[in-house]
Amino acid sequence: MAARLLDGAGLARTMRADLQPHVHEFTARVGRPPGLALVLVGDDPASHVYVGSKRTHGTEVGFRVDLHQRPATTSLEEVLDLVRSLNADPAIDGILVQSPLPAAMGSDAARRVFETIDPAKDVDGFTAENVGRLVQNREGLVACTPAGIIEMMEREGLTIAGTRAVVIGRSDIVGKPMALLLLHRHATVTIAHSKTPDLPAVCREADILVAAIGRAGFVTADFVKPGAVVIDVGMNRVTDEADVVRFFGEGSKRHLAWQQRGSVLMGDVHPRVEEVAGALTPVPGGVGPLTIAMLMKNTLTAALRRQSL
Ligand code: NAP
Repeated sequence: MAARLLDGAGLARTMRADLQPHVHEFTARVGRPPGLALVLVGDDPASHVYVGSKRTHGTEVGFRVDLHQRPATTSLEEVLDLVRSLNADPAIDGILVQSPLPAAMGSDAARRVFETIDPAKDVDGFTAENVGRLVQNREGLVACTPAGIIEMMEREGLTIAGTRAVVIGRSDIVGKPMALLLLHRHATVTIAHSKTPDLPAVCREADILVAAIGRAGFVTADFVKPGAVVIDVGMNRVTDEADVVRFFGEGSKRHLAWQQRGSVLMGDVHPRVEEVAGALTPVPGGVGPLTIAMLMKNTLTAALRRQSL
């Protein structure tokens, strides 16, 4: 039986529509809209697309969205100065510095930036203060991708309490916060990674399987317990025609798309998992749009808290 496809794009539209009246109410009460500052350093094409989407959706829900674009030659100190000035700006409620930062800034640049962002404006949920609050299950701002996944699971009526969950990936931005959010909702959680032995067997235990790896089609049907909920976080650009044909078939829609564009986007989950899973997030149109909708929700939350509303 084919899995139920979880429509992240549709849900993201609903979430934005739900936010709009609250944004208008905030604007009327405070005399200004919630303010979101987006900082984009360098020329990474994917980052430009993500930031463009964040700007468009933020403006649509009624935020003031300021885009601070800087060349790849910008120094880390200049970025930190910009963040400090945004921390001090009373009209800005949320600050997002798009990752990755240019490699020339050094390997600990992202950490230094996150350490500098005011936790009250940390709408990405990456500061140590907000991560600590998440560990302790206290109120704070939570990383958008895992928070968006939980929002979707709850709105879709998918059971979390009492289930076995496996999260593949232990990054600070997806894997670890995802595992904590599932744990706080009473799942029994395993975090798997590149050193996990017999990964397919570990994954087959899962009622909820979250793949946050960054390897196209890595999670095959033999990783999946029949009927499991499979959440595909991966966003991989596949450029090799042979791979596209291997995953999707000769003459498939994706193959045709590859012939037009030279690449296709796909997740970490192999297309044939659809035949085994009970529910599945597609890529594109699953977790990606939810992440951006959650950024909007976090920005409104930050704005309301800063005004003690
Ligand atoms: P990351 O920091 O590179 O982490 C990847 C994780 O996958 C690591 O923990 C790594 O294990 C694990 N891994 C790699 N190869 C593995 C293997 N063969 N077996 C088991 N585990 C393996 O990536 P990330 O930032 O978490 O992102 C993961 C994916 O999600 C990427 O495709 C990214 O583009 C996508 N993403 C999507 C959204 C969205 O909005 N849809 C948001 C964020 C990220 P080790 O720790 O042992 O190396």
